[in-house]
Amino acid sequence: MLNPGEGRPMSKALIIGGSVGGLFAANMLRSIGWEAAVFERNAEELTRRGAGISTHPQLHDVTRRLGIPFDDSMGIHIDTVVFLDREGRCYDRRPTLRFMSSWGRVPPRRDETS
Ligand SMILES: Cc1cc2nc3c(=O)[nH]c(=O)nc-3n(C[C@H](O)[C@H](O)[C@H](O)COP(=O)(O)OP(=O)(O)OC[C@H]3O[C@@H](n4cnc5c(N)ncnc54)[C@H](O)[C@@H]3O)c2cc1C
Repeated sequence: MLNPGEGRPMSKALIIGGSVGGLFAANMLRSIGWEAAVFERNAEELTRRGAGISTHPQLHDVTRRLGIPFDDSMGIHIDTVVFLDREGRCYDRRPTLRFMSSWGRVPPRRDETS
């Protein structure tokens, strides 16, 4: 197979691991014309992992580089962290400034790369 508009074979990558690192790598490679296949041993969808994911500037940057602006639709702003004991009673509250998301909100999802 040839790269679009070029006379050389398309570069190919096999990526082992289809969690956040593997999926972003596959999408980045595809954005520059590579063929990328992702192999994940865990059949469970990413969306089932993690109740709340604290986001970071690096995550915002990589989604932006894929042409997906990281906006408020991808999670919620929180201003307090509440600590619960085993019985569900609050034993501490601390102020924070975070933007929390989940793998159901942050692209790319596995079904878009398989
Ligand atoms: C409790 C906890 C909470 C966290 N909270 C946050 C948070 O709020 N915000 C944040 O940014 N980060 C958080 N992190 C860190 C975040 O989870 C990791 O930085 C991130 O998952 C690393 O992504 P990765 O794709 O490099 O590796 P992983 O997520 O570890 O993925 C590796 C993947 O490779 C697969 N795999 C491994 N070997 C093979 C093989 N031989 N064949 C096929 N598949 C294979 C595995 O099944 C797995 O899906 C948290 C981590 C933990 C443990």
